[in-house]
Amino acid sequence: MDEPGRSAPAFAGRTSLSQGGIGYTRAMQANPDTSTQADLIVEAPWLISVAPGSTTIEDAAIAITGTTIAAVGTREEVNRRFSATRKQILDSHVLLPGLVNAHGHAAMTLFRGYAEDTNLQTWLTDAIWPLEAKWVDESFVRDGTQLAIVEMIRSGITCFSDMYYYPEVVAEQAKAAGIRAQVAFPVIQFPNAWSASTEEGFHKGFALHDSYRNDPQIEVAFGPHSVYTITDDDLEKILTYSEELDANIQIHLHENAAEVAQNQAKFGTSGIKHLNERGLLGPRLQAVHTTQLTAEEIDLLAQNNVHVIHCPTSNAKLASGVCPTSELQAAGVNIALGTDGAASNNTLDLLNEARLASLMAKLQCQDAAALPARTALEMATINGARALGLADQIGSLETGKAADLIAIDVSGPEYQPLFDPLAQIVHTSSASAVSHVWAAGECILDNRVLRSLDLAATLQSVAMWRDRIKK
Ligand SMILES: [Zn+2]
Repeated sequence: MDEPGRSAPAFAGRTSLSQGGIGYTRAMQANPDTSTQADLIVEAPWLISVAPGSTTIEDAAIAITGTTIAAVGTREEVNRRFSATRKQILDSHVLLPGLVNAHGHAAMTLFRGYAEDTNLQTWLTDAIWPLEAKWVDESFVRDGTQLAIVEMIRSGITCFSDMYYYPEVVAEQAKAAGIRAQVAFPVIQFPNAWSASTEEGFHKGFALHDSYRNDPQIEVAFGPHSVYTITDDDLEKILTYSEELDANIQIHLHENAAEVAQNQAKFGTSGIKHLNERGLLGPRLQAVHTTQLTAEEIDLLAQNNVHVIHCPTSNAKLASGVCPTSELQAAGVNIALGTDGAASNNTLDLLNEARLASLMAKLQCQDAAALPARTALEMATINGARALGLADQIGSLETGKAADLIAIDVSGPEYQPLFDPLAQIVHTSSASAVSHVWAAGECILDNRVLRSLDLAATLQSVAMWRDRIKK
């Protein structure tokens, strides 16, 4: 096996090679007939671009120039048109767009497994909020976010949305790791470690938005936790400023029946109608969960082009309910996927969310044809990109888009015999088979070895937090 094109950093840490397939790079012989130079060509037996109308390409290749995809096609086509400085040949892999985790709370990885087997309201009020009041500070968010990013990269996620305190720290961590993020800063009416008031939250959020205004990697959004933790005045402010700054809004909405009842008692109407009356429903709004919806509310979401972020594991684990994905799709609503925080999941494995979304829809509809694997994969990629307003840049492997892609090694016995790589990737737990990740053309996971993060140091700091929290 030839050496990889870049040398491994000293902090490569504890990793394991994926089973079977061998990834390697080699200097490419220039093709005298080609006129275009690319930086890298990656070849693999299969490529699933997720582009509209596309099918799985066999004997495939992708050419990358700088941060951008220069071409996608068969090995023969791509090599005919391009010469490359480096070539990476993957013998038993499927190339896919990087996954988009459209909802989570990265730093909550440090509460993973702490509060188990409780319903949402008890989980929040008796466990999570007191834990956050005691432990959340800048260093907690730094270390917890780093753990989450390590896990997400190893699961094939190249873009994530985060809603948590110290969003400036989350943005820094994403930048350092080389992955994309939508950072939704908290707007919550009770004082917390990051902001003493919503006013201070807005002030800090605007400063954050300013500092990443033209950044290709970081989007700053509004992150009101929920309808029941924000005032009408603050909702109005969010509406005004989101239009002014062209910034997205992400909110937990209709997460379970108790929330809907609580909003009904407080406002005399549902959370969705409450937001509608205030003009908040629109294409900038990302509604997370929506497990309880009437036909009228589905129409409202569809008519206003609201994006839904479906978090099936979190909804199942907190016994919140099931998002009616088939009805939403029939109405034309864009549905993306999120892991939610690790405290209610407990993994940040988006392919597992795709699988569960598909299984839940089949059960819910009593129809095995509901939410097929292709749709589930779109939800984990291009639909996530659409929800975050990034569909022109990421979410599918197409010429001109950012070179955010992953390779999954399908040589393991759980994939055999491989009749349909797409279905098998969705319906096999594939996160641990993600062997390579490129973000903006940069290899950040190379045969399971992290290139931009120090796994050993991350695990060491997590052990310190476990000891502190356990005491
Ligand atoms: Zn959440």
